[in-house]
Amino acid sequence: MKTQDFINRELHYGAHNYHPLPVVLNRGEGVYLWDVEGKRYLDFLSGYSALSQGHCHPKIVEALKKQADVLTLTSRAFYCDLLGEFMEKATKFFGYDKLLPMNTGAEGVETALKLARRWGYDVKGVPEGKAKIVVCADNFHGRTITIVSMSTDPSSYGGFGPFTEGFVKIPYNDVSALEKVITDPDIVGFLLEPIQGEAGVVVPDDGYLKACYDICKRHNVLFIADEIQSGIGRSGRLLACDWEGVKPDILVLGKALSGGVTPVSAVFANDEIMLTIKPGEHGSTYGGNPLACAVGMAALDVVRDEKLAENADRMGKIFRSEMSNINHKMIKKVRGKGLLNAVVTEPSGDVKAWDICVMLKEKGLLAKPTHEHIIRFTPPLIINEAQMSEAVAIIKSVFESI
Ligand code: PLP
Repeated sequence: MKTQDFINRELHYGAHNYHPLPVVLNRGEGVYLWDVEGKRYLDFLSGYSALSQGHCHPKIVEALKKQADVLTLTSRAFYCDLLGEFMEKATKFFGYDKLLPMNTGAEGVETALKLARRWGYDVKGVPEGKAKIVVCADNFHGRTITIVSMSTDPSSYGGFGPFTEGFVKIPYNDVSALEKVITDPDIVGFLLEPIQGEAGVVVPDDGYLKACYDICKRHNVLFIADEIQSGIGRSGRLLACDWEGVKPDILVLGKALSGGVTPVSAVFANDEIMLTIKPGEHGSTYGGNPLACAVGMAALDVVRDEKLAENADRMGKIFRSEMSNINHKMIKKVRGKGLLNAVVTEPSGDVKAWDICVMLKEKGLLAKPTHEHIIRFTPPLIINEAQMSEAVAIIKSVFESI
């Protein structure tokens, strides 16, 4: 079968809820991917930032294989030997009393919303059914009905109503907007991405996170950070909130928590918040399964041992500096932190961000547009200088050809 045959089969039998680049992959190693015709690519998407440790990291894959032979699922009806070990490791890693394990990022966000509401009723004393959570315009927190109820993007929420109530939407990167709404005593939490990923890698002004955190503290409102994309080294710090010394009351992680190997997400909080949810009130059949625990522990070891946050910081500076040096009328702006970066483009004639991504693919680099005119560049955090130079040369040559 050739590339087009694979694509046709997927389109024929699968829902059309994605619009992939026309490339069919069948192997990955480190920062590289190969297609079914044997062509090699630099992966500059990293499974939407899940593959921070690179494709098929040997230590993570070994942990998966070893555990797969022993025990894969117990459900939370019983204890399992690895869950406590994973919880101890991850909570110490990120500095919280407890974690609640789930699978996907969206489930993690749903968990955080439930925790915040429950804390609001049991601890803050908000009247039952009245809790509100402040969210930001242009957010992306996942695809469930409740999460799209928080969205301001019609392609996320359009045609999926009726929606979940209890959200107050304010502009992102606007401290005074938060100050205005937070006086409502029914507000229990403020949920944000410290860097908005899907919106096109929108980095807020310096001081925004700290200012919002301080406002939340003054009003007894939980500061909830969705670091599913920005966290675990991606931004050049362990957490993007670390750039401003802010410790979220509730932290949501996913994606790179398993290095792209199996879905693992987790919500972190201290006891006052976490213990408001009681047995039987929340969970997931696969959440915290032994495979996930083994993979999650190995994934965190790799982040620490290979100093991925430090490497992301260093490589990101090189990337942004090289991109800023390209003098091309289609490049409007280069922005990002660590290895969470984007180039904002201006359409030139018929050439749009999608076409640039197709050209990059032809030259051996995979990236994906977000919102028509923005190209996100998020390679695995293990990328070295030679590989970064290879990538920069490809991107430069594509812009030169337009
Ligand atoms: N939150 C953020 C910030 C994300 O970027 C994403 C996915 O891109 C999610 C949540 C949803 O994660 P998942 O696709 O694993 O449900």
